[in-house]
Amino acid sequence: MRLVKIEENIIWHKCMNCGLLQHNTHIRCLKCRKGDFEIIEASGTCKLLTYTILNAPPAEFRDKASYALGVVEFENGVKGLGQITTQNSLQTGMTLKPIYRKICENLDGKEVYAYVFEPV
Ligand SMILES: [Zn+2]
Repeated sequence: MRLVKIEENIIWHKCMNCGLLQHNTHIRCLKCRKGDFEIIEASGTCKLLTYTILNAPPAEFRDKASYALGVVEFENGVKGLGQITTQNSLQTGMTLKPIYRKICENLDGKEVYAYVFEPV
């Protein structure tokens, strides 16, 4: 396999007991400690919550001098972390759309796919 796919669907968990929405890596609800969840998938566009410009990218991104990394929130409350397709004119609160595409070749030479976010 020459591909690495990161988070092909952005899926969070909603607690069936208290309704807390949280990342799907948690085994128990961070608020009430119960363990039954409804699966909530990101959909539609999202808003930029915060971002930073990485001027010393990790080795996998050796083809780039810098890139923008942002945290976004979808309309249903699911949040995601990913690269933004531009570093220009970024503003918190702006609308972005997710695009699933190749983001780099890792150090083993495999193509890595993940969501990136593009201003609408
Ligand atoms: Zn809960």
